[in-house]
Amino acid sequence: SIQRGYETVVEKKGWDDIGGLEDVKKKLKQATEWPLLHKETFKRLGLKPPRGILLFGPPGCSKTTLVKVIASVSGATFLSINGAQIYSPFVVRSTFQKARSAAPSVIFLDEIEAIVGKRNLGSGGSGSDSVQERVLSTLLNEMDGVELASSVLVIGATNRPDMLDAALMRPGRFDKIIYVPPPDFVSRQQILHVHTKDIPLAEDVDLEEIADKTNLYTGADLQNLCREAAMIGLRQNRSASSVVCIQYD
Ligand code: ATP
Repeated sequence: SIQRGYETVVEKKGWDDIGGLEDVKKKLKQATEWPLLHKETFKRLGLKPPRGILLFGPPGCSKTTLVKVIASVSGATFLSINGAQIYSPFVVRSTFQKARSAAPSVIFLDEIEAIVGKRNLGSGGSGSDSVQERVLSTLLNEMDGVELASSVLVIGATNRPDMLDAALMRPGRFDKIIYVPPPDFVSRQQILHVHTKDIPLAEDVDLEEIADKTNLYTGADLQNLCREAAMIGLRQNRSASSVVCIQYD
């Protein structure tokens, strides 16, 4: 069916659901909210909002969540396709078509390197007729064809920016590139706050200490840690399941 290959999400998310990453959040707000809130000023100054944003960084560090927040706070339709699911140019075309008819909308292309890795120029094998080649050229065409007025923003995410075809980075395509780093100590503390806000904590739980001992944990790891701790608390069946212990090693 025409729906295959992408999902829409209506779940409400806000900037506060993302712990830390203040710099990244600021850059994204500027790139996405400012053009909407100050449309006239942008026009007057001849400023063009970015058409495409590329987020890169290690897995589990909130790239997907950031895009859901952008769609949520701007009230835009969120359309998500995973690179591994794009098996034909048709999926790309129908996603852009849907995005235009449901605008304002955000198209999220996760694991974009899976579809638009560097073109295998010349060297035989997957030649210019390969499916990947056709998917890439369809994507480039669609991105070029997105009219500014139609309010369709394309956001790509990848762990491997080095694998992307340079044609994607030309002006009017992914013209803003943002690194989403793994969380530092302060960010880890804030992420732990986000994921324990609805969990009653035991008195001896010190989130600062946990943040200190979880160097190299991603946001996803920290979320898991909190979930595990809640499960342990439940299993230990402490008074009215209201006490949770956090165990991190
Ligand atoms: P992947 O590259 O594997 O797709 P990703 O960078 O897109 O990963 P997400 O899917 O956004 O990461 O994050 C995974 C999970 O970790 C989410 O459920 C999210 O809630 C949690 N998470 C990651 N970073 C943060 C953060 N900074 N604050 C709160 N939660 C976070």
